[in-house]
Formats: sequence, structure tokens, C-alpha cells
Amino acid sequence: MVPSKLSFLLSVFLLALPAFAQQQTAPKPKPRVIVVGVNGMELDIIRPLLLKGQMPNLSSVIERGAYGKLRTVSAPNCPRVYSTIFTSTHPEENGVTGFIVGGITANTNMLKEEPVWSMLSKGGITVGMANVPATFPVLPVNGYMISGMLTRGKNCEDGVLCAPKLSEVMGGDAVYPKSMQPELLKNVGDFYIDCESMPAAGDLKGHETELIDKWLGKVQLIREQQTKLFDYLLTAHPTEFTFLAQSCEDRVGHWLYPISPFNVGYNPSLNNVRLDAFPNQYIAFDKVLGSILKHVDENTYLVIFSDHGIKPLREFEEKDPHAHMDHEKTTPVIAKHDFADGDDVPGSFFAMGPGIKHDLRLMGLAASVYDVAPTLLHLYGIERPKQMRGRVLTEIFESPDNRVAVKK
Ligand SMILES: [Zn+2]
Repeated sequence: MVPSKLSFLLSVFLLALPAFAQQQTAPKPKPRVIVVGVNGMELDIIRPLLLKGQMPNLSSVIERGAYGKLRTVSAPNCPRVYSTIFTSTHPEENGVTGFIVGGITANTNMLKEEPVWSMLSKGGITVGMANVPATFPVLPVNGYMISGMLTRGKNCEDGVLCAPKLSEVMGGDAVYPKSMQPELLKNVGDFYIDCESMPAAGDLKGHETELIDKWLGKVQLIREQQTKLFDYLLTAHPTEFTFLAQSCEDRVGHWLYPISPFNVGYNPSLNNVRLDAFPNQYIAFDKVLGSILKHVDENTYLVIFSDHGIKPLREFEEKDPHAHMDHEKTTPVIAKHDFADGDDVPGSFFAMGPGIKHDLRLMGLAASVYDVAPTLLHLYGIERPKQMRGRVLTEIFESPDNRVAVKK
């Protein structure tokens, strides 16, 4: 038995310990970072919307931060670029070179280089991820992970450009930790993990208007589910690092890009039906961004990026080795992004937060997809590992040393 005097002293000591520890070794508060990936956001399409005031939330981010084009890899497609972003290594180095690698749908078991979420987890930073492409099956993190594009399931057996519901996932886990899945089903519902697949040319013929409207309705439903999911996660499971992604924008662009008769692939019965479809995706995305911004305070970093843009067809398909690597399948594609020269379809980058310059425009293609991970690590004071090919985007900071300007 512990003598009462000693036990008292012990309790006083224990009570005093937190205050003492705070004074002596107060760990610097870790910054809060929210990253939003928008698959295939095309600057040529969003610029007029920004000018017309139709994307007020993104406009406010631009005013409060830095933005510009983001150089992407050659023949960019989602898994190829996202894995490059995760690891800051070449696709050939990290192992995820496209949708299909060695006859198998790209998956996390193929990753040969350490992704940024693993480095952050090891650094003691809490990590939350949702709907990020090429994160299936999910991997353990210091927090939670919900997979995104390339999740396999019912009516989406190969996982390529289709949408299984959470309850219909097959061939691996879509949620880490597993115990979170019933909670999500209860509080968010049985949401679609990825965007809807595009209708086939044969089905479209003679039913263009009806099928386009129906498909866009489903896309909007998926976006609403995603908005609810993101809001739930940011409210009920706040983490120091949160990475959310959307992929419907890109898919709409592939077959409903508002091309003109001059463009290759122009088909008035299809391309004249909903000229507003593709721009409207960004107006809708801006609303999603608005709901995320409610969780962003003056101490939070917000990074928005697109892995690539999307443009009307511009290469001789029959000579292009990448011609059939993207979303083509059976849908009449009128725009794409896996052009041999990635500089034809740069992505975009937006960042705001403590110590980040305001209203700064990055010119040219100085910032690249390789730079995202080193810059994110920099925010947490973690040095860029040797294998990373990118650099810290120091030019976006007021001072290069001003890495963690948390006031708290
Ligand atoms: Zn695409």
C-alpha cells in the first residue's frame, strides 16, 4: 500500500506534470492541412467561370493564396499522376504507371515508394483520407482512409471508371479502420465511392438527351453524397492532415467537353445537348469547396490541386501508343488528357494558409506534380526524403523558413 503522504505527493506531481511538460518541452502545435484533389480540372474552362463570379469560393482562395498551372507527367491519367503526387517519384519508379499495370487494375499493393500519408503517419501526424484515387485497398494510417477511384465492387468488377457503393465493395477493404465502415453507413449512407461510368455509344444512339440528363443526374447525386461524406469526416473526425478528392469533373469532360464543330469528334446530336454540362461541374465543385471552407480557419492550410487538365483531341490516335489507355472504352470520347506531352494538359495548384503569399500567380510550368509531397512535408517541418524528385515550392511562402506559422 502507498503511504498517504507519498500518494499525495505523487498526485501533485502528476497533476503538475502536464503544465511542467508544456513549459519545458511544449511540442509546437502541428499545422492543420486540408488537401483537395480535383481530377482533371481544366483551367481553360474554369477561368471564364472565375471571371464571371460563378466560382466564388475558388476565387476567394486565389485572393488569399498562391495559384498557377501544375506541370504533370507524360501521358497523364489519374492513377499515374496521383501515385506520382503521393511519392514524388516517376511512375516507373513507384510502380503505378496507369490504370492497368501488367494486366491488373492499379492498386496500393503495387506502390514501390513510400507515399506521403505514410511519412506523415510515422511523424505522429493524424491523417484522414477520402475518395483519393488509387488508394484501394486502403492502407493503415494514423487515422482513417476511405478509398476512391479504382475501388472494385459490384457492377464495377475491374474497378476502372465505375462506381461501386460502399456496401458493394469487393476484393479488398475500402475503409480503414474496418470499424469505421458501419459508422459511415449509418451517418453518411451507402455512398458511391467513385463517379459513374459513361454510357456506351450503342445505348446513346437515338436517346442522347434522355441519357445525358440521366447520367448528369447520377453525377450530381454522387457529388452530393461526397459533400456529405467530407462534411461528416471534417466534423466528426478532424485530423491534422486531411486529403479529399473528387473525380466526376474529369469524367464529364471526356464526353461532354463543350467542343465546337471545328474539333475532332464533334457530333451535334451529342455535343449540342448540354453545352453547360462540363462548366457546370466546376460550379458544382465550387459549392463542395464552400462546404469544405467552413472547416478552414486562419490556422489551416488549404491546398487544392488538379492532377492534369483535359483538352479536345489533338493527336493522331492511330499512331499514339497511349490512345487506348484512358477512359475510351465504348464511350465516344471528344476530349482527353493522356497526351504524350503532358505539358499540353497541365493541372492546377492553389494554396493558402499561414505564411503563404496572397494573390500570387505562379507563371509558366515552374510548379509540378512532383512538388506537392515535398511541400506538404515542409508544412510539418519534415525534410524531403532523398528519393523524392520534387522540391518545396518555397516561392509561395512569405519567408522560406516560415513553415509552420500556427498561432494557437
Ligand atoms: Zn480522365
